[in-house]
Amino acid sequence: MTALPILVAVSLALAVTGCRGANRPMPAPLLMQPVKRTTVIASAAARGLVRADYYDRTLEIRLPYATPDNIFGRVLYPPGFPALLSQPTALKLAMANARLRRHGLRLRVLDAYRPPEVQWQIFQLFASDKYVSDPRRQWSKHTYGRAVDVELLDADGRVLPMPSAFDDFTKRAAATYTGTDPQIRANLARLQEAMTRAGFSLYPDEWWHFNDLSDPAVLRGPPIFGRDLGLAVAEPAAR
Ligand SMILES: [Zn+2]
Repeated sequence: MTALPILVAVSLALAVTGCRGANRPMPAPLLMQPVKRTTVIASAAARGLVRADYYDRTLEIRLPYATPDNIFGRVLYPPGFPALLSQPTALKLAMANARLRRHGLRLRVLDAYRPPEVQWQIFQLFASDKYVSDPRRQWSKHTYGRAVDVELLDADGRVLPMPSAFDDFTKRAAATYTGTDPQIRANLARLQEAMTRAGFSLYPDEWWHFNDLSDPAVLRGPPIFGRDLGLAVAEPAAR
């Protein structure tokens, strides 16, 4: 089958130096064409990725990176790009959601598998490796489909208050809440309990981010590139 030219990055190969000042030139935007979801999902299956809600269709999916409504102010995923996770990670997510549903709550997925080509662009945009892994040192677990960003919804679909907004790259986003709001403290504790009991690890700098570190050998290997899913993307710069 001919690979669909879904995602075309025109210029990811920007010069990268050790210094990323505010005057750093912005990378060119990704040029994207709509994705045929079923084609991407089929390609992903061959790489061990499944839909994030494969085991539990009550999981809500909303990917800010598929819209311009994110901290970067630009669309990073092609329209229709599905939320994908490695199969064991999707199973853990379903287990966490099942635990929360017993309390009348459920998870909303904000990000899941992220093509390394997009990760590279985000790293370029963000100008710091505190909150975005430097791909030259280590790929984000998202690029393996083994990390997931989530928030908590109540029975009516309302987002429960958390220490910060998603992608608030400040100290307020830390997984350890230092504020005084008892409701936020309780919401965060419930989310973290459900996720860690299902086998996820916390990420200290981001309350919404959870890693599945159950297969370290996989995480030492190469990530799953978008081109492997049939996405037409530019080569990321050498690590
Ligand atoms: Zn994340």
